[in-house]
Amino acid sequence: MFGRTRARPRTPIAARRLLKPGACAGCLAEAAAADALLASLVGEAVTDPDARDELRATHGWCAAHLERAVRIATADGGRSSIAILYADVLRTLDDRGPTWPSPHPVCGVCTYVVDVLPHALTDLSLALGRGENLDELASSGALCLTHTGSVAGLPKSGGRDLLLAHGLAELRVIAASLQDFADRQDHRSTDRTDHGSVDRLLAFVRGSEPTTATNRARRSR
Ligand SMILES: [Zn+2]
Ligand SMILES: [Zn+2]
Repeated sequence: MFGRTRARPRTPIAARRLLKPGACAGCLAEAAAADALLASLVGEAVTDPDARDELRATHGWCAAHLERAVRIATADGGRSSIAILYADVLRTLDDRGPTWPSPHPVCGVCTYVVDVLPHALTDLSLALGRGENLDELASSGALCLTHTGSVAGLPKSGGRDLLLAHGLAELRVIAASLQDFADRQDHRSTDRTDHGSVDRLLAFVRGSEPTTATNRARRSR
């Protein structure tokens, strides 16, 4: 993470916080992890030399995480901490000028979220495997495409299989709905109504937390 110079303790995320109607558990885990980290950084980074060094080294946060940081700072009563941190980051980049490193460094919060996600999904799988939160799972939103993949990558267990089935069920529904739409085009049907299959595909690929979607490419590293 922000973690080359100091490790951050990982705060466990309760299973019930990840199982919500209309939302992907992996997207919620990423958002919760990013918000917890940003909330502490927005407050303490201003006076923490190590955190300031790391923020300069990564050229600040990515757009999605800066947006979340601004939202947190605004809710906390002021954006001045963002101003203090970023005046410093941008002045440093200006000074560097010709020696500006390329490619753009990876955002420290993105790195942290990638590290935390498997732990959060494993904790959730273990809870499900113990028979906990099954009602919440049944009424929770589907996993998005990215996080269906994340769950598939976890060590096999009863709880992981329950979670994976939840993602694959959505995938199958969308595939069937897209195929139905495609077939109606092929057969010169007069019914060219999409019935939402392409929108549902977009939601499945985008995930339920749009602010994390810009970082998808990095997760596939
Ligand atoms: Zn997701
Ligand atoms: Zn980021």
